[in-house]
Amino acid sequence: MNFTDFDFHSRIKGGIQAAGYTHPTPIQERALGPALQGRDIMGLAQTGTGKTAAFVLPMLQRLIQGPGRGVRALIVAPTRELAEQTHQAINILGRRTGLRSVTIYGGVSIHRQAQDLKRGADIVVACPGRLLDHLGRNAIDLAGVAVLVIDEADQMLDMGFLPDIRRILGHLPRRRQSLLFSATMPGEIRKLAGDLLTDPVTVQIGIAKPVETVQHALFPVAAHLKTPLLLKLLPRTNAGSVLVFTRTKHRAKRLGEQLARAGYRSASLQGNLSQNRRQAALDGFRDGTFQILVATDIAARGIDVAKVSHVINYDVPATTDAYIHRIGRTGRAYRSGDAFTLVTAEDDAMVRAIDRVLGHRVERRTLADFDYRVSPPRRDTEFTRPRRPSIMARPAKAARQFHGSRRAFQ
Ligand code: AMP
Repeated sequence: MNFTDFDFHSRIKGGIQAAGYTHPTPIQERALGPALQGRDIMGLAQTGTGKTAAFVLPMLQRLIQGPGRGVRALIVAPTRELAEQTHQAINILGRRTGLRSVTIYGGVSIHRQAQDLKRGADIVVACPGRLLDHLGRNAIDLAGVAVLVIDEADQMLDMGFLPDIRRILGHLPRRRQSLLFSATMPGEIRKLAGDLLTDPVTVQIGIAKPVETVQHALFPVAAHLKTPLLLKLLPRTNAGSVLVFTRTKHRAKRLGEQLARAGYRSASLQGNLSQNRRQAALDGFRDGTFQILVATDIAARGIDVAKVSHVINYDVPATTDAYIHRIGRTGRAYRSGDAFTLVTAEDDAMVRAIDRVLGHRVERRTLADFDYRVSPPRRDTEFTRPRRPSIMARPAKAARQFHGSRRAFQ
């Protein structure tokens, strides 16, 4: 199948060319036809399958042909990174259409966004909370929306956004085309789909299966030797772009700093960063300034960096879905990649679950030139936080309570 099999407007064909796409990916093959006919779509696809273009292209076609002014398409995304990425895809694919896309998310000036909207937007790519803020101020009118896309619906559910989504739906006209994308289909998403979609075409691509071009390997190691082992592994990544996952924001920050001290061009991406610093870390990773990006699941969800060669799970993910989402960052759209996971004895249950979801026993690897016998330090201080000096000035009882409660949450 070829993109010429679809009757795209010549200006959209130009955008497809500009993006360098020659053949549609499987989800595009199956979703583009019905979406171009105006059908509602339930897309079950993980990130990395080309799902963005599967909804952006038909949306552009409808807007370029259709009547109306003002915001005519709304895309709701769980994270600002995903919103920004989708906005960029629209700018590339729609560059010859003259259609204008605006992003709406928190962490940046609401006034500037309101001004952007005033200047006129055909497409809005938004995160739910900030979109509701704009709706509350009457800064945006969604009455003319002809196409609605809800992207990564299962992530919205995980982040507690479903009530916000339902409130947003109340601002949209009933007659519209709706497309819902989700990697998994928990009961709540099934229900949302039932309420939102009319006679939808379901397009399912490799649900809960990782991208097939990825090689997986597990590296059993004691917790205190993870960083030394990572430093041994990194020279084997052939200077490709490496995305490293940690369990917490704090561990991401610390590991990013440790790698920088070891001489790597590395940055970390975690929720505590300002929007500017997140964008700088992402841009630097994209353009190769940083070889390594250390991130948490939430920070990295949906990030599309085309040439990630290695995903390294410094900490195992909490769920197999999270594993698949992490690994979805490499081997994207026909490229191949490596997925390394450092596992400790405590990760046994997760290791078995990963074996199960991949359908085979994942290769266990040990490095011949690595000393696995180094004993742990008497107290593992690698990731402990520095004590706050101010606490020393507090009465002894308050200090005890403070440290006691902190420990309980670690
Ligand atoms: P997505 O799943 O939408 O995040 O897309 C994953 C990656 O695949 C992005 O880098 C897209 O630019 C790329 N991509 C999407 N469609 C195609 C296509 N038809 N041919 C080649 N690459 C594509």
